[in-house]
Amino acid sequence: MENRIVIMGAGLSGLALAYNLESCKKDYALLEAKNKAGGLCASYKIKDFTFDYGGHLLHLNAKRGLKMAQKLLGKNILLHKRRAFVHIYGRDLAFPFQNNLYGLDEKIVSECVNEALKAYKEKDKADTALFKNWALALYGKGICKHFMFPYNQKLWQTDLGKLTSDWCGKFVPASTLEDIIKGAYAQRKKDFGYNAHFFYPKTGGSQALVDALLKKARVKYKAAVTAVDLKNKTIAAGGKTYGYDKLVSTLPLPLLGCALKDLPANIKKDFAALKHNSVYVLNIAATGKTKDGHWYYFPEDKYPFFRVGVQSSFAKDLAIGGSSSFYVEFAAAPGQKPDFEVWQKTALAQLKELGFIETGAKILVKNWVSIPQAYPIYDAKRKEAVENIANYLRGQGVYLLGRYGAWEYSFMEKSLLDAADLALEICQ
Ligand SMILES: Cc1cc2nc3c(=O)[nH]c(=O)nc-3n(C[C@H](O)[C@H](O)[C@H](O)COP(=O)(O)OP(=O)(O)OC[C@H]3O[C@@H](n4cnc5c(N)ncnc54)[C@H](O)[C@@H]3O)c2cc1C
Repeated sequence: MENRIVIMGAGLSGLALAYNLESCKKDYALLEAKNKAGGLCASYKIKDFTFDYGGHLLHLNAKRGLKMAQKLLGKNILLHKRRAFVHIYGRDLAFPFQNNLYGLDEKIVSECVNEALKAYKEKDKADTALFKNWALALYGKGICKHFMFPYNQKLWQTDLGKLTSDWCGKFVPASTLEDIIKGAYAQRKKDFGYNAHFFYPKTGGSQALVDALLKKARVKYKAAVTAVDLKNKTIAAGGKTYGYDKLVSTLPLPLLGCALKDLPANIKKDFAALKHNSVYVLNIAATGKTKDGHWYYFPEDKYPFFRVGVQSSFAKDLAIGGSSSFYVEFAAAPGQKPDFEVWQKTALAQLKELGFIETGAKILVKNWVSIPQAYPIYDAKRKEAVENIANYLRGQGVYLLGRYGAWEYSFMEKSLLDAADLALEICQ
């Protein structure tokens, strides 16, 4: 008898898996809680403005990832050279901060360079398992004080002293001492980091990728999974019961933990160890022109947001001609109740002050998006807890997929690649 495959969640990961299963003619049920597919990669329209759930840019670093995206999007794809900045002490410095100190107050530049030199001498002695020690060893106290620590505190919303460094390699542009020094005394043109170039759909926002997958993937909408019975291999979703032989979860791992019945005590403990932050995105559209960058990082406390992206800079069809659109990203610890009114009022005033929104411009859209599980937190318990959970569930015929299913800091490209690999495994 054909194995019954059930996929939970029709975000990019679930859709990409279904798409690949279609290619090898495997049947499956793809269950989605909402009446819309795409998860965080979906886009939505308000008054002729298209917004993502916090600017979803395609960082395609693997040849296979690029090929997949090109196959899906065809000619509907644009390549951008990143224009990203760090707004600090009244200036916009090119990103990444550590390699572009030129333009800052001389005292700060000297402090950063001297501390980087000191750190370099001690580098081999450092234990870099924790994020703070890793950053101090690589960049020195000055760069950490002015950017690395305040920015990451704002983003992760957790005790930075407990954050590990296992996510850094891919996401924080590495710097040599030479890069730091060269960037301290002259404007640099060199590209750094995984996102120096990025792709974006010419039309339709990040939803274009979702729509391409939906040409093959079949979704059962309004099928929120509420319980998973591992013993009897059944799932309760949207008032129905589904039997399975292989189950793939792309749901945020803690939510899967709540749906699983009769878990052993040690695995329950592993689920309880999983932590995350929450991100809230204020999408804005305004009349008039804006600044030249694609996105800006804000390490200083006086700005309640950690990043501002110019959505309208990614593709012409996202905003009405002569106007601009933005996403403003705020982070909070779970359980913290943000005062959205205060955040919104402050952000709008600061966006005007900073030149994102022209004086006298009309605000056409203000719309909030909540991402309750946004960044899985890398602390000392995460790795072992995730491994224990994944191994236990694998033994029960359950696979974990995607940033939230596998509970990792990863991007859309990895969702596409992992889904293709898992489909191959399942199809064999
Ligand atoms: C603020 C932010 C910005 C980002 N920017 C980028 C970027 O620029 N580039 C990039 O490559 N990546 C970016 N990412 C990462 C990217 O969003 C993820 O890698 C990707 O969306 C993961 O897709 P997914 O399908 O695994 O998860 P999701 O998109 O979360 O999809 C999960 C799906 O499961 C559904 N679901 C949830 N609960 C249930 C249930 N009980 N029953 C049934 N269905 C359920 C949800 O509705 C959703 O459709 C960003 C992430 C965040 C938080």
